[in-house]
Amino acid sequence: KNRIAVMTSGGDSPGMNGCVRAVVRKSLAQGCESYCIYEGYEGLVRGGDLIKQMRWEDVRGLLSEGGTSIGTARCKAFTERPGRLKAAKNMIDKGINALIICGGDGSLTGADTFRGEWPGLLEELVSSGEITPEQRNEFQHLNIVGLVGSIDNDFADTDATIGCYSSLARICESVDSIDATASSHQRAFVIEVMGRHCGWLALMAGVSTGADFIFIPENPPAQNWEDQMCGIIKKHREFGKRKTIVIVAEGAIDSELKQISPTQVKDLLSNRLKLDTRITTLGHVQRGGTPCAYDRQLSTLQGVEAVMAVLDATPETPSKFIAIIENKIIRSPLIEAVALTQEVAKAIAAKDFKRAMDLRGPEFAE
Ligand code: ATP
Repeated sequence: KNRIAVMTSGGDSPGMNGCVRAVVRKSLAQGCESYCIYEGYEGLVRGGDLIKQMRWEDVRGLLSEGGTSIGTARCKAFTERPGRLKAAKNMIDKGINALIICGGDGSLTGADTFRGEWPGLLEELVSSGEITPEQRNEFQHLNIVGLVGSIDNDFADTDATIGCYSSLARICESVDSIDATASSHQRAFVIEVMGRHCGWLALMAGVSTGADFIFIPENPPAQNWEDQMCGIIKKHREFGKRKTIVIVAEGAIDSELKQISPTQVKDLLSNRLKLDTRITTLGHVQRGGTPCAYDRQLSTLQGVEAVMAVLDATPETPSKFIAIIENKIIRSPLIEAVALTQEVAKAIAAKDFKRAMDLRGPEFAE
């Protein structure tokens, strides 16, 4: 009998709960046993009460809750082999033979490493007498499937990660609120949004709120950006605009890879354009709260598909993650997508910004 476990790992995102609910219920509907691993890889390494069998009613009401109710964590122990050995033992103790992980690229890379090492880990557990040879034969293959949960929409080969549209909606609501006061007082606001490595939230927030200027990591502004930005904002003011909104991603840089800070932008607007300028850092409100309809739907459809991918997998199937491309839910090779995701950071470090934008996708090019 298949025993399928689900866990959430890395930074939380709205919709992770929807994944847990969908995986638990689809597993049960397919006649499998269902388990939740609490606190991400920490739960897998520590085992015991952190791995719980789930019933249908245990995930009732989760769809509309933000964050992840089974907890998430960053776990150093799992990044080292001894930690993964403990994790393997805990899984075998519970009879779990498939793992569905909802997390970012780090979490999904860790899962694939675990799967690659699995036969070796089992041999080691047999040698130390922690499992029997019969258990090794029974649990020969570990099946893993990834779901991408991240507010940043920073994963390659999928149009949207679970949580990014909820976060974008929250940012837009916040900018709308700021807009009202900015217009009233004719002020300028420099708004910092999340995205240490990916500018999707800043870019889409800029488009969705009609911001005057944005800064993102993948496409630094021209060397004379200070003149350029002030010129654009001055022109907008001359057209009669009573407010100025500049959006800065956390990881925004200039063409020399130097960070662009909200304070630097504020000083420029205050000193050169004489605008009454304030900084607003949106912070963790962007992460949380109720998932939007899109994330409820995406997490449900992808969670269901992840269970089907587990049931269809053979020992030879490379690890998969569930993507959405042009509105279709599909299964895609995991490791290629992780490698492509990591390429963006390499392109930025090499100042190949065109490649960074191409890798991010068409919305960046436009
Ligand atoms: P986010 O996008 O929110 O940062 P993430 O999944 O990329 O999410 P990480 O902190 O990179 O977040 O990873 C979460 C956990 O996954 C780590 O604390 C660690 O336990 C595990 N992990 C990450 N990378 C690896 C790896 N290369 N090998 C083994 N485990 C890993």
